[in-house]
Amino acid sequence: MNSEELIRLSESRSAHNYHPLPVVISSAEGAWVTDVEGKRYLDCLAGYSSLNFGHSNPEILTAAREQLDRLTLTSRAFYHDRFAEFVTGLSELCGKDMVLPMNTGAEAVETAIKVARKWGYEVKGVAPGQANIVVMEDNFHGRTTTIVGFSTDPESRDGFGPFSPGFRVVKYGSAEAVREAIDENTVAVLLEPIQGEAGVLVPPDGYLAAVREICTDNNVLMVADEIQSGLGRTGETFACDHERVVPDLYVLGKALGGGVVPVSAVVADADVMGVIGPGQHGSTFGGNPLACAVGDAVIGLLRTGEYQARARELGAFLHARLADLGPGVVAVRGRGLWAGIDIDPSLGTGRQISEALMRRGVLVKDTHGSTIRLAPPLVVSRDDLDWAVDQLSAVLREA
Ligand code: PLP
Repeated sequence: MNSEELIRLSESRSAHNYHPLPVVISSAEGAWVTDVEGKRYLDCLAGYSSLNFGHSNPEILTAAREQLDRLTLTSRAFYHDRFAEFVTGLSELCGKDMVLPMNTGAEAVETAIKVARKWGYEVKGVAPGQANIVVMEDNFHGRTTTIVGFSTDPESRDGFGPFSPGFRVVKYGSAEAVREAIDENTVAVLLEPIQGEAGVLVPPDGYLAAVREICTDNNVLMVADEIQSGLGRTGETFACDHERVVPDLYVLGKALGGGVVPVSAVVADADVMGVIGPGQHGSTFGGNPLACAVGDAVIGLLRTGEYQARARELGAFLHARLADLGPGVVAVRGRGLWAGIDIDPSLGTGRQISEALMRRGVLVKDTHGSTIRLAPPLVVSRDDLDWAVDQLSAVLREA
């Protein structure tokens, strides 16, 4: 079947919960993907940062293949021989004591919420049922009902209530707003160190450090959702590293699965994670042998520091080029190999710009209104990046 037929069939037989660009990908390597007609595109989305280490990364694929032939699933009813190494490696990468492995990002965020609430009741001494968590305007933490209940995006939230109580929404980027929202029943502050889905919004310098201090002063857990910002994307292992901030809980996902399998995790010290006992949380697939083998390979790649360095160096190059794009670009934000670009709305919507870029062989994703974002795999070459920005420049000239 050709692309057109595959798209028609996909649309007629699947829920319309996405609005994909009209490209049907059938193979990929590194930063490039190929469609069913054989046309190649530079992937500047990288599976929303799940493919930080590139498509078909050889180390990750080798680890996955070897594990596929040996053992893929036991459930957590038993131990398996890949578990210890994975949880040790990940806790060391994070500088924490313990890992709770899950599969998707939303599950990991839900896990962090449960851990924080239980810690609040058992350690902090919050009265039963009274815990609250401070969250941010324009957050994106996933699609489950609890999470969309504290989203401020009507599209994510409307029509899915009733929602879970116990969340207080404050302005992102204002440490003062966090301080004012905290009371004696606050157990956690949950934030993205950079808000990806909101358009790659980088908070003011010092914000994360100030929130860290406020959390410490008030005996509140700082929970960093590094699902999109973490694991090399911004030029450091974690986006919090830019301010030398260590949250109480890291929430990880996406790139932890190497673009092969869904792997997510919450990582914290024993005085926090220790509140979870047998039967209180879990997942049939969480921490399965295949996930652990892939996760181990990812941790091995991050230990070299090579990917973080690439994101830093190529990120500086990318941002310098984007800053020079001139008229047509209203604002550029981002850090490392991650950019949100606001296009002058008179030139078209983010969707129209994305479609024009697709025709020129560059795949990006629009977010709200006239914003597009670039987040290529960290293995992308400097020449490819240069070429991608040339294509954007041409699209803006022609718009
Ligand atoms: N948290 C953040 C910051 C995200 O960017 C995402 C996904 O985009 C999620 C959570 C949800 O992850 P998943 O789609 O794997 O549930």
